Amino acid sequence: MNTQTYLNDFLTQTHQKNASQKVFLQAVEEVVRSLVPVLDQNPVYMKEKILERIVEPERIISFRVPWRDDKGEIHVNRGFRVQFNSALGPYKGGIRFHSSVTADSLKFLAFEQTFKNSLTTLPLGGGKGGSDFDTRGKSDTEVMRFCHAFIDELYHHIGYHTDIPAGDLGCGAREIGYMFGQYKKLTNDFTGAFTGKKPNWGGSLLRPQATGYGISYFAQNMLATRGDELNGKICVVSGAGNVGIHTMEKLSELGAKVVGFMDYDGSIYDKDGVNAEKIAFLKDLVFKRRGSVQEYAKKFKKAQFRPGKKTWDIPCDCAFPTACENELNGEDAKMLLKNGCKCVCEGANMPSTPEAVEAFKEAGILYSPGKASNAGGVAVSGLEMTQNSMRIYWTAQEVDAYLKRIMNNIHTSCLTYAEQFAQKGDYVAGANIAGFLKVADSMIDQGLV
Ligand code: GLU
Repeated sequence: MNTQTYLNDFLTQTHQKNASQKVFLQAVEEVVRSLVPVLDQNPVYMKEKILERIVEPERIISFRVPWRDDKGEIHVNRGFRVQFNSALGPYKGGIRFHSSVTADSLKFLAFEQTFKNSLTTLPLGGGKGGSDFDTRGKSDTEVMRFCHAFIDELYHHIGYHTDIPAGDLGCGAREIGYMFGQYKKLTNDFTGAFTGKKPNWGGSLLRPQATGYGISYFAQNMLATRGDELNGKICVVSGAGNVGIHTMEKLSELGAKVVGFMDYDGSIYDKDGVNAEKIAFLKDLVFKRRGSVQEYAKKFKKAQFRPGKKTWDIPCDCAFPTACENELNGEDAKMLLKNGCKCVCEGANMPSTPEAVEAFKEAGILYSPGKASNAGGVAVSGLEMTQNSMRIYWTAQEVDAYLKRIMNNIHTSCLTYAEQFAQKGDYVAGANIAGFLKVADSMIDQGLV
């Protein structure tokens, strides 16, 4: 059977089996389409049914999370952990707490995580978990009770050599602290079973900054391939959470001018660009007071708050979607291109719709998929695990040097594999191929399990 026929049959079957799982299918299509030349040259992956096996999670755990609010009322949420692939190491990936979380959305995220973790070159399998619980509007004690209830079940399924959760949307150091505390109490074991811990009890320095800093280093590498640099570039970011704020921080340190960012309520257009003082204000606003970016425009009068609006209409040289999947659509992409954007470096997981990706590719601008450019976060999680195993702490400079090296390696891998399989300069193809080959070969080595 020729590769194209095989792939068409495979995709038809995958669509039939997962008919309602839209984002998961979108992610599978993107990866599989990049693999045509790989399968052509290596029919063994078809013979071994690697695609059929790689799209099937090893295990999905779904459970009930009952908890009481401050008034004593009972609530019931759904908890999940998708243990997608353990060919390269124990399952590794974040926990997402957001009302949009479903088994489908986590399955897609865990699938992406498998390839992302492979790209880091560290021994990490792929997983993801979470709950449809929204931390917004909840008190600290409510969040704590919820996190404890979540771990009351999840602790059976995770562990230092099995599955190591971390943070993600709606799940930061506070939530990791409560989850780790309950895990330790139930298992009577203080191990690095979570990453994203605070540095005073086992966390790595620079873990909170790692995704955002890594994205900026990756963008620097991308621009360098065209003899260009970040210094002086006008940039817009979308999210204003952990990833967004640390992306803005590093971009500004590298000489770029970040003029736009947003959160759930709307976006900020600040023509003057953010600086260290503004970043410090944003960190306090978002991480400590858990407030909305509206307050930024009240504090810095020249900035404009645009209720309910995204950032993609703001003229820029470089765009960094760091919020969530499918946040940047075909129209947004056209707008960015019309305004002269020449680099889109993804910070979220699959934030650009297929139409947007097509538009970027057609225009020939620099475009990197999240699984490559946002891998710095999980990479430093891997380094946190190493430090925990060695029972030492590295300095921020040491972690930063590793992070830079890993981001450089991922960048080089993307370009090398894209070129080797006749898709020169295509970061999507390069990331998918490089991520896939390591997992696929390891699956073959380990036999039919
Ligand atoms: N949630 C992050 C990601 O999407 C980090 C995962 C981790 O550190 O395990 O990659």
